[in-house]
Amino acid sequence: MMKIGFGFDTHKLEDNRQLWLGGILIPHPKGSVGHSDADVLIHAIIDALLGAAGLPDIGNQFPDTAEEFKGIDSKVLLARTMEMIQNKGFSIGNIDSVIVLQRPKISSHIPEMIKTLSGILKIGEEQLSIKAKTSENLGFIGREEGVSAYATVLLEKSS
Ligand SMILES: [Zn+2]
Repeated sequence: MMKIGFGFDTHKLEDNRQLWLGGILIPHPKGSVGHSDADVLIHAIIDALLGAAGLPDIGNQFPDTAEEFKGIDSKVLLARTMEMIQNKGFSIGNIDSVIVLQRPKISSHIPEMIKTLSGILKIGEEQLSIKAKTSENLGFIGREEGVSAYATVLLEKSS
């Protein structure tokens, strides 16, 4: 059996915040705002995984009102999500994703993101695709007020 999942996330960017993307810290004067480390790509991937497995979404699994998740490294949330997926008998076929960010240029960081996230997900690097786009200076992303990410996931279950 194969199941497809889709995830989307967006976070506000502000001065003097850390910019965590795909599990790594990107040097930049602005960073994303959120209850956790606000890693928009990991959050989109988590929601795609949960959706494909038919599980409640990230806001239900890791509520942003819970003290336990305040400032948490999203890699921990990703690892916990992977456990839930495996407990339901699923394995990952592949993941495709897009980060939409005006600045800074992040293409040079993508190999490290792939290495980091595929390690947590225990999949081969060729099973995870991460692409970077700008919004052509349009909208809130173009004004550098926010960052978004989209992810699709294919899960497989034998039997
Ligand atoms: Zn988020």
